[in-house]
Amino acid sequence: MEKIINGFIKEVNSRNQNEPEFMQAVTEVAENVIPYIVQNKIYYGQNILLRMVEPERVLSFRVAWIDDNEEIQVNRGYRVEMNSAIGPYKGGLRFHPNVNLSVLKFLAFEQIFKNSLTTLPMGGGKGGADFDPKGRSDTEVMRFCQSFMTELFRHIGPNRDIPAGDIGVGSREIGYLFGQYKRLKNEFTGVLTGKGTSWGGSLIRPEATGYGVVYFTEEMLQNQGNSIKDKKVIISGSGNVAQFAAEKCLDLGAKVLCMSDSSGYIYEKEGFNREKLSHIMEIKNIKRGRIQEYQKKYPKAIFKANKKPWEIVCDIALPCATQNELTGNDAKVLVKNGCFCVGEGANMPSTPGAIKHFLDNKIFFAPGKASNAGGVAVSGLEMAQNSLRYSWSRKEVDEKLKKIMSDIHKSCLEFGSEKEHVNYVKGANIAGFVKVAEAMLAQGVV
Ligand code: NDP
Repeated sequence: MEKIINGFIKEVNSRNQNEPEFMQAVTEVAENVIPYIVQNKIYYGQNILLRMVEPERVLSFRVAWIDDNEEIQVNRGYRVEMNSAIGPYKGGLRFHPNVNLSVLKFLAFEQIFKNSLTTLPMGGGKGGADFDPKGRSDTEVMRFCQSFMTELFRHIGPNRDIPAGDIGVGSREIGYLFGQYKRLKNEFTGVLTGKGTSWGGSLIRPEATGYGVVYFTEEMLQNQGNSIKDKKVIISGSGNVAQFAAEKCLDLGAKVLCMSDSSGYIYEKEGFNREKLSHIMEIKNIKRGRIQEYQKKYPKAIFKANKKPWEIVCDIALPCATQNELTGNDAKVLVKNGCFCVGEGANMPSTPGAIKHFLDNKIFFAPGKASNAGGVAVSGLEMAQNSLRYSWSRKEVDEKLKKIMSDIHKSCLEFGSEKEHVNYVKGANIAGFVKVAEAMLAQGVV
């Protein structure tokens, strides 16, 4: 088996050299899915996984725009249309200086499995640009978004490819992108998700990824007769996913000790309350500032510059910032300090070494493609509401989200249950694979 897996990885690597993030995501899936393919004759010999790792289409384009000093800036925009076997391409846009093809291909590849797990009809895609919105004025961000959409609009559409937000793309950016799409196409359609609720957005979409991570974590704990109530939780990041993961932890009675950004972390020994969390939201969403500013209002909180939060003693860790933010050494520290459950809010935040350590130590470990699927699930619900020209209530969407997270958990149990433990990585990879593979088999060699 090892020989088959290594041969496959070697072949994919030869075509995707200098794409470490993409190869990391492919390797993890291959290790779980190839043994399953070998055991299941209908998939064997069809080169399904080799087809899945090859994007259906990759777009790369120039984004030129004028900054506030009237200087011309040039960025590179992308859209990776990875797989449309079960529905139109669906996945977010990321604006961050470290965006490149490797990062977007790993995200688009993960998205195939995640979208499949939601049970909604959505294919996998991802896009973005190496643009850094930090420190840019609103008008600069608007000009950038307009220029970006002026090329992207011809490749997307409500039945073709429906982008959403991700790192650096929140409600402000979705608004500017939607406005430009509408102007260019002269039509009002659900071409983006994450829209404002007065112009086609779904209630709970901003909260969905963070809430979903906590719903999934609670499912894992309840499956073991435990619960998140009174548990000490540490969260990395302080963006969209982290904020609403923290909010749901508070709703369910957990104690959130820490949040972070790329400059360091804030530690609240007694835990954040709602007022303190609102202050984090104000700093990050309205002032667009740094997390350290929190200390001005709450001087008893500890700020550790350029440090990651994994050194804090906790029961549960929710990495909600970015890829590869939790290394093998971090995992060792977490486990040594008594952490017994990890729910990934970000995409691929744990390195392979960290995942191995968690699995070896029988930690309840939820991979992002399962635990952070709530965001794209509610995006799918937003698309459904746009097609129906109808809006569901907050309660209705939240109930649907909870049910989807619970169903994803069940799928992971179906394919990932081992003797005395559940391997959620294996469960998510195989469950996500099966639906897409069946559609690809039915649709012939395309
Ligand atoms: P935001 O842009 O709202 O927030 C990102 C957070 O991560 C910020 O606190 C940011 O800090 C921090 N961060 C970014 N890069 C780094 C880095 N290199 N090192 C340390 N911290 C970093 O993004 P989201 O909350 O939307 O996304 C977070 C993660 O969740 C990403 O992996 C994304 O792909 C994933 N995700 C998001 C979904 C969504 O619906 N938004 C859906 C599913 C997954 P700073 O402010 O300093 O940059």
